[in-house]
Amino acid sequence: MALQLEVSLATEKKEKPDFNKLGFGQIFTDHMFVMDYSEGKGWHDPRIVPYAPLTLDPAAMVFHYGQSVFEGLKAYRTRENNILLFRPDKNMHRMNVSNERIDMPQIDEAFVLEALRELIKIDQDWIPSAPGTSLYIRPFMIATEPYLGVRPSHSYKLVIILSPVGAYYAGGMKPVKIHVESKYVRAVRGGTGNAKTAGNYAASLKAQSEAKVLGYEQVLWLDGVEGKYIEEVGAMNVFFKVKGEIWTPALNGSILDGVTRNSVLQLLRDWGLPVHEKRISMEELQQAHANGELEEAFGTGTAAVISPIGELNWNQHQMFINGQEVGELTMKLYDTLTGIQYGEVEDKFGWTVKVL
Ligand SMILES: *Cc1c(COP(=O)(O)O)cnc(C)c1O
Repeated sequence: MALQLEVSLATEKKEKPDFNKLGFGQIFTDHMFVMDYSEGKGWHDPRIVPYAPLTLDPAAMVFHYGQSVFEGLKAYRTRENNILLFRPDKNMHRMNVSNERIDMPQIDEAFVLEALRELIKIDQDWIPSAPGTSLYIRPFMIATEPYLGVRPSHSYKLVIILSPVGAYYAGGMKPVKIHVESKYVRAVRGGTGNAKTAGNYAASLKAQSEAKVLGYEQVLWLDGVEGKYIEEVGAMNVFFKVKGEIWTPALNGSILDGVTRNSVLQLLRDWGLPVHEKRISMEELQQAHANGELEEAFGTGTAAVISPIGELNWNQHQMFINGQEVGELTMKLYDTLTGIQYGEVEDKFGWTVKVL
């Protein structure tokens, strides 16, 4: 049976915020997409409805056993007033990778993407136009069955909400200070590191708070087995430029397969730069820094796109990178990716999808 999208529009629209003062993830649009799953019946009742709180049984399994996955992508308004998505098929697919790991049902990727496009069209007035602003899209899926027993839920809800967001670098791009985390780990081999599941973020908060107290903005995560190898930076993938070559940790099951990471790798290879996806030890990186070979470092993710790293602190080693200035390659990647996302740079890889 084919799914049929029902639309019920809000009778009263919310007042729009001041689009010049948008932060991140605090304001939500007039509508949302919801679809339910029940065992035996599968996915049913896909609908676009007025944005509103969800009503859940206190015994809903998501509250107790944490079956919850999410995605994050953006819609961009171009100068010509078109609305573009950036590689949304990748996010839909990754949601299914997460669902698989958390033992949740698969979604019909093409159908959910089509529903998302409808939702964006309905709430298109909420997409800001100032440089660097966008509409953040948050699909998520939760276990809804009321049951206090540890097993996969028999019912789920998939929801997509939209949030207009301001420019990440409203005050200009500034390299961040990073604490290399030696006490806590984010993920381990065989765990859930390659799934975008809520528990990973719950497990990361304490390290983040302790790093803040020490004066750092983010943590660099090392592997959970030996505590030696670099995995990610905060909720971003991480890259280093060493003697003209680019290093990034290879996907090993405990690293999230970022869409931005994948795009950066394609761009770098297209530009003919030597790229190595490999296991990188902190010791090796520190040695490269000591030899004056660590030229640039940056994180990659949908929110910031590219986040330059100006300082890394690992045990006794305080490593300043590129004089705490934004590196040339870092800037070129940021300009190219955002250029493609806003339709200003030729999209030679066919990454953007036009909604309007
Ligand atoms: C979402 C996320 C990323 C970045 O993924 P993008 O698809 O580039 O936004 C990287 N690491 C973690 C842990 C994440 O949750």
